[in-house]
Amino acid sequence: MGEQDADRYVIGVDVGGTKVLGVALDPAQPHEPLAVELVPTPRGAERLEAVLVSVVAALRRRLPARRLAAVGIGVAGLVDHRGVLRVAPNLEAGEAFDVASRLGAALDVPVVADNDANCALAAELAAGAARGRDEVVYAALGTGIGGALASGGRVVRGANGFAGEPGHMTIVRDGWPCACGRQGCWEAYASGTGLARLGREAASAGPAVALLDQAGGSPGLVRGEHVMAAAAGGDPLSCAVLTDFARWVAIGLANLVSLLDPQLVLLGGSMVEAGEVLMGPVRSAFAELVLGSDERGGPPAEVAAFGARAAATGAALLAAAHPAGPAG
Ligand SMILES: [Zn+2]
Repeated sequence: MGEQDADRYVIGVDVGGTKVLGVALDPAQPHEPLAVELVPTPRGAERLEAVLVSVVAALRRRLPARRLAAVGIGVAGLVDHRGVLRVAPNLEAGEAFDVASRLGAALDVPVVADNDANCALAAELAAGAARGRDEVVYAALGTGIGGALASGGRVVRGANGFAGEPGHMTIVRDGWPCACGRQGCWEAYASGTGLARLGREAASAGPAVALLDQAGGSPGLVRGEHVMAAAAGGDPLSCAVLTDFARWVAIGLANLVSLLDPQLVLLGGSMVEAGEVLMGPVRSAFAELVLGSDERGGPPAEVAAFGARAAATGAALLAAAHPAGPAG
């Protein structure tokens, strides 16, 4: 958008398993959104479409003097090159939800759609922790694991748009069940869901006073954030659970390094907001497990810069880069 378009803005919407986050921004200032909307994620394509329309409408109402140029939608699922959501185990949105076309028609503005982690990495490449890097692996640790890859400074999309889903690499044969319906996926172990399971097992196995204090007294109620809070408070059992968990995270990252030889491994998602209590153990397990770690000198494992707004910001930047409408 040129100088004559100073009153124009773009909207990016991040559709996650639990929350829909919309940001309106001037693409020249991605770190300072003009307006933000956050609502719960509904179930089903019809309701999701209605919520997306209402989030965009709410953002537009807050910027009455400016003109909306385009909308980008980042969705937690497999989104093809045409902006059609093909697979989304956490959204119950059906088998082929044509996000870009349906929203474009409903909103009467150009709409583009992509995988949420692809959007997040695009934001990090443009103006975040991956700025100036060409070869990057990104993993967002939350309820599941979102993933994205960059090569030559661009997000790698693959033959169909489905590249960069490391959360569903099988790392344990016949292992723990995954939300995708298969077993032993990396995300079954190295996500918030995996940490919760490790925490519940530890709390059931023996004395776990500090951890159970966090979880309201019952081993069955232990969640990932309880383990992290108890570990941050110095509880030895929770620290041991987190060290174990960090090893699962690092196993997947080390596999990705063997495959892709990145300059940078970038970690995002809600879990990394816990800070060094998680990142410390992850970095040390990662350094231990990467093939030829000493000899190759890295790569560093760093925390993404845009935090919870990464995918929404990247979706908005994607929209700004495609002002003519959906690709293809
Ligand atoms: Zn899976």
